[in-house]
Amino acid sequence: MSEGTKREKDERPVKEGRRQFRAIKGTRDILPPDSALWNWFEKTARGVMESYNFAEIRTPIFEEAELFARSIGGETDVVNKEMFILQEDYENKEVLELVQLRQRIEYINVSAARPESIEDFAGVIDTFLERYDSAQKKGVIRQNEYSYGYVMSDELQEARDILRDILRMPRDSGWQESFDLAVAECKHDIAHVFLQSRNALRPEATASVCRAYIEHGMQTRPGDQKLYYVGPMFRRERPQKGRYRQFYQIGAEVLGTSDAPAIDAELIEMLTVLIGRCQIEKWTLLVNSIGCAECRPKYVELLRAELRKPEIFSKLGPDSQRRVETNPLRVMDSKLPEEQPIIEKLPKISEHLCAECREHYDKLKKELDLRKVPFVETPRLVRGLDYYMRTTFEITSPVLGAQNALCGGGRYDGLVEMLGGPKGIKGIGFALGEDRFIDAIVEAKKIDATRAVDVFVAWMGEKAYPEAVRLARVLRDAGRAVELPAKEMKFGKAFERADKIGARHVLILGEDEIASKQVTVKTLASGEQKQMGEAELLDYVRR
Ligand code: AMP
Repeated sequence: MSEGTKREKDERPVKEGRRQFRAIKGTRDILPPDSALWNWFEKTARGVMESYNFAEIRTPIFEEAELFARSIGGETDVVNKEMFILQEDYENKEVLELVQLRQRIEYINVSAARPESIEDFAGVIDTFLERYDSAQKKGVIRQNEYSYGYVMSDELQEARDILRDILRMPRDSGWQESFDLAVAECKHDIAHVFLQSRNALRPEATASVCRAYIEHGMQTRPGDQKLYYVGPMFRRERPQKGRYRQFYQIGAEVLGTSDAPAIDAELIEMLTVLIGRCQIEKWTLLVNSIGCAECRPKYVELLRAELRKPEIFSKLGPDSQRRVETNPLRVMDSKLPEEQPIIEKLPKISEHLCAECREHYDKLKKELDLRKVPFVETPRLVRGLDYYMRTTFEITSPVLGAQNALCGGGRYDGLVEMLGGPKGIKGIGFALGEDRFIDAIVEAKKIDATRAVDVFVAWMGEKAYPEAVRLARVLRDAGRAVELPAKEMKFGKAFERADKIGARHVLILGEDEIASKQVTVKTLASGEQKQMGEAELLDYVRR
């Protein structure tokens, strides 16, 4: 094709209905052969966690938004700005009715020539507005409580009123245009009324695990509940390398009546074992203790007093300045480079722990030493919510760039009770970012998880085909990966294809092999070719 025709072809407008779809911003496809590494990683992680006697829990990927708001905190970005609130809750009768009314308004054919169609249109809008207000009053759809959405009934009401006014106006030359505009305005607004349901895609899974623990009375099961999960999480973050809107986490939680530091240390040790299996060499474990309801408030006051000092306050950015009053602990967490020298000099919580928290922290460090897990004490590692207690940790890796956190976790002794569960249930957990682990594994270049095809079956002739099908099945039953071409291929072509897909052996089945009841196997790497019977074949193509 000449350059000219190529350009013309590329520039042809895409026909309506033929446009190409692309994955939504911040989401991505994981294709082979990369998916093999993901599977390897998940299998390895499951193996490690199961060796520590953790068992898998599977929870839904959507829950009531309120669950996340309460457990992560209504003030956090994750809940406030990044949560994917499901637009409509079709299970709910009132929401469903609103959805249907909205659809009717959108598709209704309104024409000035048919006065009854105008009446119908305005009437459905009225019904919609009435039902909308009542649903909001009942709390079926969200008010602007966490500002993670918008309510547009006011605008719709306004558009409807304009339409009503136009209907009363004398039908002069400009009337039709105003009428069409008002109808379009109403339809536009209705399309944007956000029927926020109470459900959201999960931004993390700790809240779900605790909800399930409470719902199923898991405290009555013997011993601590050691649970792990694997799956996608959703946050409307600004996408960049290592940060996606649908990303994958593996996490584990220990829920029970004990808060022994050995539990914390074992959980962290388990993570370092996983990192070791992945042969990621460059990583740092950061640990801290953030005290408890006893000692933390006193420290927070001390910190606030320090941050209020004009010489310090004036050097803080607007976010941190606001947090001095709302949540001074989060100033410690700031990533702004210009605030780092100030943060370095602020009082450290680890120096203001009560006797019990200090003992817990000291024991944790001893336990980590006992397990030969190296760590760096990091006072800036804090969490702003009341139910977070004592141990917090993070593992970072310099190979990841700006988003350098491989995983993070901590103790949350008050969470189960706060979510309406039994008193005295303590918890600790971590979540690791699979996307980032995979990047670190690729960077380390030690693991090759691509699963080669063991055997490519090259068959020719009608008589060879049934034997090819049978032998492929025998090999597959024995756990070998087999590619059996659906159509006959000349042997030359079959070898070429086998080579391209990285097969290790080619099994040759032609008239001669059928006659001799033997098969020919060629090992592609060495070029060696051998004749053998079925029993020997299985052994020969052992992986
Ligand atoms: P968090 O639940 O925020 O403590 O995150 C736990 C881990 O999940 C982090 O250490 C990251 O490895 C990973 N993670 C969090 N947010 C994202 C994201 N948007 N994209 C990819 N990985 C993420």
